[in-house]
Amino acid sequence: MGLCQRWRRLRLSGLQTCRLHTAAVPAPPQWLAERLGLFEELWTAQVKKLASVAQKEHRTIKISLPGGQRVDAVAWSTTPYQLAQQISSTLADTAVAAQVNGELYDLERPLETDSDLRFLTFSSAEGKAVFWHSSTHVLGAAAEQLLGAVLCRGPSTECGFYHDFFLGKERTVRGSELPALERICQELAAAAQPFRRLEASQDQLRQLFKDNPFKLRLIEEKVTGPTAIVYGCGMLVDLCRGPHLRHTGQIGGLKLLTNSSSLWRSSGAPEPLQRVSGISFPTMEELRAWEEGREEAELRDHRRIGKAQELFFFHELSPGSCFFLPRGTRVYNALVAFIRAEYTRRGFSEPPDSDRLSSSLSDHAPSHPADTLALKPMNCPAHCLMFAHRPRSWRELPLRLADFGALHRAEASGSLGGLTRLRCFQQDDAHIFCAPDQLETEIQGCLDFLRSVYTVLGFSFRLALSTRPSSFLGEPCLWDQAEQVLQRALEEFGEPWELNPGDGAFYGPKASVSLLQIDVHLRDALGRPHQCGTIQLDFQLPLRFDLQYKGQAGAPEHPVVIHRAVLGSVERMLGVLAESCGGKWPLWLSPFQVVVIPVGTEQEEYAREAQRRLQAAGLVCDLDANSGLTLSRRVRRAQLAHYNFQFVVGQKEQSKRTVNIRTRDNCQLGEWDLTEAVQRLLELQNTRVPNAEQVF
Ligand SMILES: [Zn+2]
Ligand SMILES: [Zn+2]
Repeated sequence: MGLCQRWRRLRLSGLQTCRLHTAAVPAPPQWLAERLGLFEELWTAQVKKLASVAQKEHRTIKISLPGGQRVDAVAWSTTPYQLAQQISSTLADTAVAAQVNGELYDLERPLETDSDLRFLTFSSAEGKAVFWHSSTHVLGAAAEQLLGAVLCRGPSTECGFYHDFFLGKERTVRGSELPALERICQELAAAAQPFRRLEASQDQLRQLFKDNPFKLRLIEEKVTGPTAIVYGCGMLVDLCRGPHLRHTGQIGGLKLLTNSSSLWRSSGAPEPLQRVSGISFPTMEELRAWEEGREEAELRDHRRIGKAQELFFFHELSPGSCFFLPRGTRVYNALVAFIRAEYTRRGFSEPPDSDRLSSSLSDHAPSHPADTLALKPMNCPAHCLMFAHRPRSWRELPLRLADFGALHRAEASGSLGGLTRLRCFQQDDAHIFCAPDQLETEIQGCLDFLRSVYTVLGFSFRLALSTRPSSFLGEPCLWDQAEQVLQRALEEFGEPWELNPGDGAFYGPKASVSLLQIDVHLRDALGRPHQCGTIQLDFQLPLRFDLQYKGQAGAPEHPVVIHRAVLGSVERMLGVLAESCGGKWPLWLSPFQVVVIPVGTEQEEYAREAQRRLQAAGLVCDLDANSGLTLSRRVRRAQLAHYNFQFVVGQKEQSKRTVNIRTRDNCQLGEWDLTEAVQRLLELQNTRVPNAEQVF
């Protein structure tokens, strides 16, 4: 089929499947036609070559399949897809890629040697990555066809994919163009075009991408061997390692989400790029379910709750700063007070501290004194100075120093978003200086701290131990010992945990070489993952600051430092909690604990007195004496505002010094003596129960 025919058929099928489709797709540009022509030529040659290799060798290879079963296959001919079909048609339909001796493979790529074969489906994280990565090629093809885009890169992300492309220095992609782009993506998916893997020489690569300066630069920088892999899919030919889906028809539902700008930074002068992001699923039903979940999430968005409940606001004059209002301050302080109470119980001290330090301390290591002050990005240097200010003895260890001081980070303005990422925030940060033989107990203490706080907050959590990266500083035996200590502490702790070998790269090149870390992944009440707390073991910091103490035997020794946080950024945690409870705060955190509602104007004075009693006890209490509204309207209004409790006072309550109590879920708790009600509320607040309304 010629190119024009192919193009026309594609357009026609689009018109047939979608009558509303009015986007004018321009005729394919000459370079696109040439590139595809060359690809077809090379593809035919590769198919021929493979067939002859398979025939000439005719070698039987042994494949071990997932359930332990072993089967025979033909080298250079049998594909993972054929084997999946032998196992079950469901597997063949749902598999997105294969893993062959640990390497990711296309399902249609012939096996070469004896292999250990696994199949990936959309249900796994790796499967999703393949699925979304394949989807971004579809988006790239649509952008080429509709916008004449020059493609740059298209990765999968944690939740979907994006494609960066160049439209010229002036042209940007508009939000109004997304629907047309999305329709073309859907047509391409419906056309079930196969992904075809081709090995091409450096010369052929340069020929294929001669009209794309970005790919030419990538070829020059990244292709080190004589050949590299390109994939053809419909009209698209792209430089890519793969693997991909068998064909675009596996993408049952696809939605484009955002358009924005980005920057080509790989090499040469930075170029303005356009970015379109999207998400896709194997079926339309899964896409719909995801969309519903997203709507629910938007309703729960902490920025929306923060505005509706007047908790905090942001201002364009100070991007990345959060301004807390009285009600938000109440939640904030309740959270901090909770951690402070734990500090007292657990032997931490919290020295007051400045948010500025000499700039010579700002990069985490001391040097010569400097006259300039820098905003503090972290607390570790200050705590090291406190440890070092006089000689220390082993008897003083462990020394546990905590700090809620404001921290400052130079976050890029594009990455700021609500409370999730701020330029200025507070952390429940602490450092534990201990002797090596105290490490296990201290780590266990950190884990226990974490569990008791997360339990109160209604979170579950998973732990993972990241062991040392391949390049590391210091003595290997020290690392081995520390890894063993952490593993023992985790075992002892009794919660499930997993191992992430050599995962240190996450912390960037500078820090990766000196930290051992326990990753804490918490799940909120909606089951959504967040990373908030950290426990890190540091051998290098005490050496850089030359921290010493007099050991039991009298000789100087270096302490070990544990950096740890439970809430992480208090601001961010407040956002997580707001979304987790959907604005229905548990009593102890609630900025809407009680509203007193007098039935008529005659009870207003008594209602005020009740309000004063509650406030004097340290509870948050408002009064709704608007007699222009009926009692039931005011009760309803209080419930919609998520006041944990409503105290209604009429004539009878006034004369008996009682209150009639309802909860925000409109459960009637009946008449209570005012003093007793205040006592009960205080009890429930101080024990931080999650469900005060039910257990009142
Ligand atoms: Zn790819
Ligand atoms: Zn630290």
